[in-house]
Amino acid sequence: MFDYLVVGAGLFGAVFAHEAHKRGKSVLVVDRRAHVAGNVYTENVNGINVHKYGAHIFHTSNKEVWGYIQQFAEFNRYTNSPVARYKDELYNLPFNMNTFSQMWGVKTPAEAQAKLNEQKADAVASLNGREPANLEEQALSLVGRDVYEKLIKGYTEKQWGRKCTELPAFIIKRLPVRLVYDNNYFNDKYQGIPVGGYTQIVEKMLDGVEVRLGVDFFKERETLVASAQKVVFTGMIDEYYGYKFGELEYRSLRFETEDLSQENYQGNAVVNYTEACVPYTRIIEHKHFEFGCQGGSATDHTVVTREYPATWKHGDEPYYPMNDERNNALYAKYKVLADAETKVIFGGRLGMYKYFDMHHVIAEALACVGKEFG
Ligand code: FAD
Ligand code: UDP
Repeated sequence: MFDYLVVGAGLFGAVFAHEAHKRGKSVLVVDRRAHVAGNVYTENVNGINVHKYGAHIFHTSNKEVWGYIQQFAEFNRYTNSPVARYKDELYNLPFNMNTFSQMWGVKTPAEAQAKLNEQKADAVASLNGREPANLEEQALSLVGRDVYEKLIKGYTEKQWGRKCTELPAFIIKRLPVRLVYDNNYFNDKYQGIPVGGYTQIVEKMLDGVEVRLGVDFFKERETLVASAQKVVFTGMIDEYYGYKFGELEYRSLRFETEDLSQENYQGNAVVNYTEACVPYTRIIEHKHFEFGCQGGSATDHTVVTREYPATWKHGDEPYYPMNDERNNALYAKYKVLADAETKVIFGGRLGMYKYFDMHHVIAEALACVGKEFG
């Protein structure tokens, strides 16, 4: 009999398992994949750490979380600065003085502000003081027509498979808009990539904990639940409840990875393709996360991944929860059941049905540990 069964060896499950083990609890972790680390899994391909489930950049303003994760790896000074490609034009992201200067030829913040005001005037007027009701209204009132048409609309509609007018405004609020020449994609205080990849972090967290891979909870549900006093579940909450209120929607992705015999393919870790007619959203060149063309870990080959958004159906990986009103309301029904459980705790991106970044997941897991162990 284990004290805890943890379903899912992603960050949430691993942090919880680590903390429970540290407190002398016996823990069994199961995951249906053949490896630990969930979506932050990285694999070393001839000297390059490949982010197998999409680019993962660690960023946070939470000092406790930043201190916590550094117990398990050293982080480099990587700052995410994606480049956006629209037809033959290249723009710096997030939306900052470099972008505005490339878009309109403006040189000073005052010139950029004047241009932004002109670009967003119609959208602001039609809002007439109310909050933007969807992503299109949000984007147009934030950065105006040109930036929306070239850098947001095509990318967002292929990423989410829906019109911007049918998407929640909050998605685009993640992106900073700045009147300084600063291409840092995030506003957070701390940022970096773990030297040597993410998998080692989760392996260290799970050191001393029993882990069974290739185990689907739903195929051995009764035996597994009976084997522990309590269950921490980080899979899909709707699947846990047999979809009794209906299915939550997710967005999936397909990754196409190539190992190229050239040293440097695109000169940046992340290049976004913002045109609607290009079927992928971005190309990741993994070596640049760890400065693979600039010194120590240089290699003469490079690994690139194209990320294709995909409609989610049963059996696909549910990468992104679709946190719109309909799905949030459905999740709220499942949450009522979850809150009434005495033996099961739900956590993580799928268990809590929330568009969490890694630092959010760690903070949630630590809060859960706090509740459980005081
Ligand atoms: P997961 O990592 O999904 O782990 C859940 C685990 O549970 C999985 O391993 C799964 O196999 C297992 N599981 C599910 N159901 C079952 C079952 N029935 N039986 C057994 N096992 C099961 N965050 C950032 O901070 N920065 C980024 O740059 C960033 N980029 C991202 C890019 C992409 C493409 C994606 C998809 C996410 C990104 N994230 C990023 C978010 C980050 O991946 C998540 O916040 C984090 O990995 C979530 O951890 P988790 O433990 O909740 O879930
Ligand atoms: N986005 C965009 N153009 C870009 C990059 C992002 O319009 O070049 C929008 C898009 O709607 C996306 C959102 O901003 O879903 C958040 O982007 P982020 O890079 O944070 O997404 P994630 O890393 O979670 O996929």
